[in-house]
Amino acid sequence: MLEVENISAGYGNGDVIKNLSFIAIGREIYVLLGANGAGKTTTFRAITGILPLSRGRVVVDGIDLWVEPEKAKRKIGYLPEGERVYPDLTVYKNLRFFARIYDVEEERINELLREFGLERYRDTKAGYLSRGFRKRLALARALLHNPNILVLDEPFSNLDIPTVLSLRDKIFEMLEEGKTILFSTHILSELQNFEGIRCRVGIMKEGKLILEERLENLLNRISNIEVLFKVDKKQQARELLKKFGYPVKMESTGVAVRVSNYNEETPAIMKILLTQGINVYEVKPKETPIEKIFTEITKRSE
Ligand code: ATP
Repeated sequence: MLEVENISAGYGNGDVIKNLSFIAIGREIYVLLGANGAGKTTTFRAITGILPLSRGRVVVDGIDLWVEPEKAKRKIGYLPEGERVYPDLTVYKNLRFFARIYDVEEERINELLREFGLERYRDTKAGYLSRGFRKRLALARALLHNPNILVLDEPFSNLDIPTVLSLRDKIFEMLEEGKTILFSTHILSELQNFEGIRCRVGIMKEGKLILEERLENLLNRISNIEVLFKVDKKQQARELLKKFGYPVKMESTGVAVRVSNYNEETPAIMKILLTQGINVYEVKPKETPIEKIFTEITKRSE
């Protein structure tokens, strides 16, 4: 469990994050959602002990992060923003460096190299890896000491689909083991993949947590948005959905439908399309400016 109590932190010119409080518990995902610059990375730096707090406290499984930092940090695995690894060290040495700090056995390094498909790059300098593989290495490093709490800054960006899927599976597996997972994103549609599991979302704006919601409630709040259905038979899909009374538009990759309740109407539309033999390859809200969603959410929560 991670308890964040009234923390503020910044970079010298005043606080960037202001008076944040939230609790992330085991078997649950806590997502920080916010536009670029909202303060997600700064929050993660503050709760992992990298950035000093100007006020408040962070308690990790009962241990105060700033009173017993070494003990608390052992419980946290952190994937920093931007695939940070040591570029001049090989993949293996990057992991071994941290393995020594955390007294992790050699076999665990090999296990992670296998798990993240990094074996063939074992002796390659990390700086020569592609971005996606650097991220895999950074993820392996975050998991090395089998942390109870995993803090992932924008974990799904710059990864190919198989890696995204295996990371999601890894997250689900860790949740089942009772671990606490936090991640950040500025992409609302990414959260759809976590529907049906225990997930809370904290929305950040200008360094403040403006709203906290269970994911299913948040998705219910998103009303009146256009959803893109990527389909194989666009014309047929449009005619069909029109007959059902949906406001529908053609798009280059499919059809866009304006829905008033995203959570309820999206599965219903999928069903209509699929039962008529139209294949649906992807469903996602059309790029809705996140600020618009925030405005809507804050207006409704007043
Ligand atoms: P993004 O989605 O773009 O990564 P974010 O929500 O993670 O954004 P932060 O990176 O935490 O946001 O940035 C919050 C604010 O803090 C921004 O105004 C940014 O300019 C400022 N900031 C971030 N890092 C530093 C730094 N090292 N020194 C000074 N200001 C910083």
